Amino acid sequence: MADAVIEADFALGERPFREVYVITGIGAKAMAKNLLFQSRSTVGLSRNDSGQSVAELQQYLQRFGYLHAILPEDHPLTVARNASAPQFTSEVFDEATETALKTYQHFYGLPISGILDQATIAHMSRPRCGFPDNPNRPGAANFAAQGNRWNKPNLTYRFQEFTADFNQQDIRNALAVAFGLWNAVTPLTFTEVTGSADIVVRFVTGDHGDGSPFDGVGNVLAHGFYPPPNGGDIAGDVHFDDAETWTINIPPTGTDLTTVAAHEIGHALGLDHSSVQQALMFAFYGGPHRFLHQDDTDGIRSVYGARAAGNPVLIQSRFGAKGNFELVVPSAGGGLAFYFRNNDDPSFPWNGPFPFGQSAGQVEAVTLIQSNFGDPGNLELVARVGDRLAFFFRDSGPAFNWNGPFFLS
Ligand SMILES: [Zn+2]
Ligand SMILES: [Zn+2]
Repeated sequence: MADAVIEADFALGERPFREVYVITGIGAKAMAKNLLFQSRSTVGLSRNDSGQSVAELQQYLQRFGYLHAILPEDHPLTVARNASAPQFTSEVFDEATETALKTYQHFYGLPISGILDQATIAHMSRPRCGFPDNPNRPGAANFAAQGNRWNKPNLTYRFQEFTADFNQQDIRNALAVAFGLWNAVTPLTFTEVTGSADIVVRFVTGDHGDGSPFDGVGNVLAHGFYPPPNGGDIAGDVHFDDAETWTINIPPTGTDLTTVAAHEIGHALGLDHSSVQQALMFAFYGGPHRFLHQDDTDGIRSVYGARAAGNPVLIQSRFGAKGNFELVVPSAGGGLAFYFRNNDDPSFPWNGPFPFGQSAGQVEAVTLIQSNFGDPGNLELVARVGDRLAFFFRDSGPAFNWNGPFFLS
């Protein structure tokens, strides 16, 4: 079957990008192949080499945050690109290019040769997220929170387009599972809507109007944008390259939509790429990964705190003439929070939350009773904190202080 060569010029700010693809089997998107870094002359490129293959390497390093890229001030990726990434001379393997390549090799645990060796080319050719890495951030050992965050816990999303790879309900389900991974470990909730939404989900190809065109099959699979305030309307949005063959099957018959969606949602919530290979927020796609690694959980909780896992517990106390309702709930930030309802007041007002026991850490379950200690009786509770039990009591007044935690083991 004849191959077709497509060359495309993309303008990204003032600096055009050129991408060259060879498509085998015209019209069959699954067979199109991205040829970045596959020309023979590219292997072994090193300091002081020059020419078109050096330019290809520089474009790759530029695109993914390792070399300086000129972008307009208001470009949604401006905040993401490393603005302090080194300036370089185009088509010349200069010191800046060598430093950028070594930074890439270091970030991904490759031998730091400073040479575009076979191992590095193989690594760069793998499918990945289109979002730039941020390799020079301080403490780049694992997850990184970028700094932007949603200032509300209840977020909405809507689909602007669907992929034709499978039916709309399956796509909705795949995204719901992806959002659910982040919902499970944070106070965040995600609701699909049809009107205006915080997060817009799109399936698009090539240039789709955000200055970050998709590249056909392979290499870049998707990208997501940080939360407000940067980026304007596009903040928090998630785009999938519909040139990819998306799938929901296990074993997969294409690229697993839930996995890539969960990764891009991580960006939409404010996470950068992690250097932990087993993390969902690792930039490269390595097959279905429909779970959060501890690194992802630590990362998102550093931004939004943890989801309170325990059930609230309610009793009727001997406080007041009728006896008030007393309520304890695990707090998202750790420890517990106390509420009471004054049942003697005709409007039955709830009072609280009154946080306590924050030093106990994340409480996963709690149980509460009224005891015969004190007058009219203390409140006694036990909280489960990981594998340990912590005891607290509230005296009968007049201060009504909570005391604890007292760990039982
Ligand atoms: Zn990413
Ligand atoms: Zn996009």
